[in-house]
Amino acid sequence: MNRADFPILNELVYGKPLVYLDNAATTQKPQVVIDALNDYYLHINSNIHRGVHCLSQQATNEFERAREAVRQYINAASTQEVIFTRGATESINLVAASFGRTYLQPDDEVIVSEMEHHSNIVPWQLACEERGAKLKVLPFNEQGELIISKLETLITERTKIVAVAHVSNSLGTINPIEKIISIAHQHNVPVLIDGAQAVAHCPVNVQALDCDFYCFSGHKMYAPMGIGVMYGKTQWLNEMQPYQGGGEMIKDVTFEKTTYNELPFKFEAGTPSVGDVIGLRTAIEYIQNVGLEKIATYEQELLTYTAEKLSKIDGMRFIGEAAQKTGVISFLVSDIHPYDMGVLLDHQGIAVRTGHHCTQPIMTHFGIPGTVRASFALYNTFEEADKLVEAVIKAKNMLM
Ligand code: PMP
Repeated sequence: MNRADFPILNELVYGKPLVYLDNAATTQKPQVVIDALNDYYLHINSNIHRGVHCLSQQATNEFERAREAVRQYINAASTQEVIFTRGATESINLVAASFGRTYLQPDDEVIVSEMEHHSNIVPWQLACEERGAKLKVLPFNEQGELIISKLETLITERTKIVAVAHVSNSLGTINPIEKIISIAHQHNVPVLIDGAQAVAHCPVNVQALDCDFYCFSGHKMYAPMGIGVMYGKTQWLNEMQPYQGGGEMIKDVTFEKTTYNELPFKFEAGTPSVGDVIGLRTAIEYIQNVGLEKIATYEQELLTYTAEKLSKIDGMRFIGEAAQKTGVISFLVSDIHPYDMGVLLDHQGIAVRTGHHCTQPIMTHFGIPGTVRASFALYNTFEEADKLVEAVIKAKNMLM
């Protein structure tokens, strides 16, 4: 689908056509996004806001148009709820630090799930450590599905926030976040959703979900690296202390007292990555032109096809067999180390990721060192899926 839009897919590796199946780590960029970056630096590069000159005003307009594009993409109620960050990691760190400083008291509790990426664990550990609060963990079952019934028993009157992934980067599980949000809200507990693995693969409507925070990275949705979004409900953002101090986030500064700027600027200290924000807008427009529903359906077909073929290989073990999944296949073959498999796949031109995928608790749960992970994007083909299967068989024969 739309393969020709992605110039890098014509690259050869070791003289073989690149089969890029590492999309959960980062996606490739369409020509329009590369052009948007180029155009920005060729024609309007300038610092934004408060600039009286023409380029600065143009750059500011483009930057704020991008905020509106993000607002529309996730259906936020207002652009003041859309904060630009460097990525999902920074977005979650922002919430953990600011929310923690504002609301966490000694002996309070934060709930995360057992399948979180380290970037939705460690920032909460830091916040808990700083405030004397406790981290609690919602477990998952052998299929890699969260045991939602345990959430009710984990939540107490000391629970201040629940933070879970929309989609697991290692297991591919699509979590029932509507249910999680509804349970948490019945106890007046806000919910942060880590949407890093969801935004390019399924429609997200933050108002319908009623989540309190939703965090994601641009580079996993065909946009440049170094740009991300933290969506937060106005009520929280108004109450929360700022994350970083500096230019742009202030209203008035004296040595005695500083007052903060209005939203969203209160959380955007310093010069932002303007070109990348414009690149993100272009990527959003690109996804919308292709159609997110169409992408989701196509990736599901690829997932079903590939999993079915891989399952025929003797010794194949899937890690993550949830009923609801995105196009992420984590697997092991017999007792072959994932790294050895990864290297041999690479030599056949196939880019996959191996290891713990920044989710060590998942690996501990299954008692494994890591997995081989193939993950799809809209440009992958059934022919590439066949190549992966052939290459796994070949690697297996070489290693056993
Ligand atoms: N959460 C999940 C589920 C992820 O997959 C990732 C990236 N692997 C992140 C958070 C962190 O994203 P980034 O490195 O772009 O900040």
